[in-house]
Amino acid sequence: MSKQKQVILKIIQSKKMHLTADEIFMYAKQEIPSIALGTVYRNLNKLVEENQIKRVSLPNSPDKFDWNLSKHSHIICSRCSSINDIYISEIDNILKKEIDSLISYNITIDYVCEKCKAKEKDATN
Ligand SMILES: [Zn+2]
Ligand SMILES: [Zn+2]
Repeated sequence: MSKQKQVILKIIQSKKMHLTADEIFMYAKQEIPSIALGTVYRNLNKLVEENQIKRVSLPNSPDKFDWNLSKHSHIICSRCSSINDIYISEIDNILKKEIDSLISYNITIDYVCEKCKAKEKDATN
């Protein structure tokens, strides 16, 4: 594995967050100041292909990259776009019952996160 790829993978696994390519680029620069954004994109695509990380595609916002490889869904704040993991084990069983040849699924649920809820409450007071 190239040094760049190793650094990128380490960032994603150690932050335990859903990071965009730009955010990963920012962290990677602290380790390899000469790294280019194109290199980050190329290595992220490779890591996704190799199933070392997962890509989370979101409507209206850039893709995020996920360290968590276990089967899970995402809840996304419709105000600030923060993203969190959610485990709904029943979904697996329901989908398998309905679809014989299920390969994978990608469920995103919109909600308003605690931080934004608190902010909105402040604004109305
Ligand atoms: Zn929010
Ligand atoms: Zn996730």
